[in-house]
Amino acid sequence: MLALPLSLPLENRQVVLIGAGPWLTRKLALFARTPAKLIVFTPVEPRVIEAEAAVHVRWPEAAELAEAALVVVAFEDRELAEKGAALARSVQALLNVVDHPDLGDVHIPAIIDRGPLSIGVATSGSAPVLARETRRKIEAAIPPSEVHIAEFALSLSAPLRAAISNVDDRRRVWEDVLQSPAAELARSGRVTEAVALALAGIANRQPRQGVVHLVGAGPGDPELLTLKALRLLSEADVIVYDRLVGDAIMDLARRDAERFYVGKARSNHSVPQDQIHDLLVEQARLGKRVVRLKGGDPFVFGRGGEEVEALRAANVEVHVTPGITAALGCAASSGVPLTHRDHAQSVTFVTGHAKDGDSGNNPLMLDWSALSAPHHTLVIYMGVATSREIATKLMRHGRLPDTPVLIIENGTRSDERRTLTALDALESTIAANPPKGPALLIIGEVAGLYSPSVAGLVETAVKANA
Ligand code: SAH
Repeated sequence: MLALPLSLPLENRQVVLIGAGPWLTRKLALFARTPAKLIVFTPVEPRVIEAEAAVHVRWPEAAELAEAALVVVAFEDRELAEKGAALARSVQALLNVVDHPDLGDVHIPAIIDRGPLSIGVATSGSAPVLARETRRKIEAAIPPSEVHIAEFALSLSAPLRAAISNVDDRRRVWEDVLQSPAAELARSGRVTEAVALALAGIANRQPRQGVVHLVGAGPGDPELLTLKALRLLSEADVIVYDRLVGDAIMDLARRDAERFYVGKARSNHSVPQDQIHDLLVEQARLGKRVVRLKGGDPFVFGRGGEEVEALRAANVEVHVTPGITAALGCAASSGVPLTHRDHAQSVTFVTGHAKDGDSGNNPLMLDWSALSAPHHTLVIYMGVATSREIATKLMRHGRLPDTPVLIIENGTRSDERRTLTALDALESTIAANPPKGPALLIIGEVAGLYSPSVAGLVETAVKANA
């Protein structure tokens, strides 16, 4: 470690900025977010500066720097920066010189601003781009709602210290409070109510209440998780997941979380749905924070609705976090627009799975004439096994045989496979190369817009009737 990151409280303190142009305005914008009293000297490029600051169009007198907690010199020009630095040196103020780190004492890190929680990324002044890149990663990991949590924690800190003298007890209470419904309330911005709720909770502390979060994991690429899903995964005591959730996503979960696999393959339910309900209820009643992680979105062909009903019936607190459903994730990442002014004015998500446990022999109960309208996109989930019936019925109800169909297998994952075909060649295309992973069919004019080069993949486009 070449430099030590410190934190400088700025309440009731003075910050003096000496500079010009964008160098100055950028620093001014930064310090405007702090409670510091700002004094600005802009000697060489007089222009109106909009800021809540005293602005002087001249160099400062040394005495005017004497009270400063920090002097920031912000000129592009090195000679001017040296002159500003020399002035600050004469009064021995703590000095930062923008872009000329060698002239000052301290560097200002890249900052992640979450109110009372501020995170600085320092690279010893050597690599600001690395600092920015690191900041971007931390920004993603610490959602903006964390500002409220930090305010919440700040307000609770003194009362908690007063109420619980034992350090270990206090730590456990902190852990509980930061995972509690009060913290959720704080995250949504209702900090005052959250503090009251937390204090009431601490006053009549009881064993931890369990909760179940139904969380959408998106189509497969871990970067398509929402920030909220990522947070819930890192906080979970228990994770109940199935086949659609890959290792890359499970790797992001809390290391010591208990994991239950309830995966199901089509017509092969490894854990029946009511047993999944029982498991969720049982774990929540043990006081656990349970994440029920589901591929895509929990409420799109995911039986999330049934799980929520079962949990509500058992009086278990339940929340749902949306995910990117396979249709949206697979289409967008393949460069296929599901609607397009020239090609499709509507889109329908359809399940090709006739009934639970069905082997594909029962006919699909769908409104085929509505689904067969031109300029309408169909996205078929679980439709590989019934693709023959789907293609035949759509053509019988008027969909043209050369309507393009894009088959996307393992969409957004590293083993993604896409095949372009046509309605009348769908069955033979699938028979020639049956998908093994989860696969979607995108049927309609828009599928014809698919271009492997646009989507960044090289693969075989099986042309209609080729
Ligand atoms: N809740 C999920 C869908 C569950 S049904 C969602 O919102 O996406 C399971 C079906 O979804 C699979 O049979 C397949 O048709 C589709 N599917 C899910 N993930 C997929 C992926 N990565 N690529 C292609 N199809 C996928």
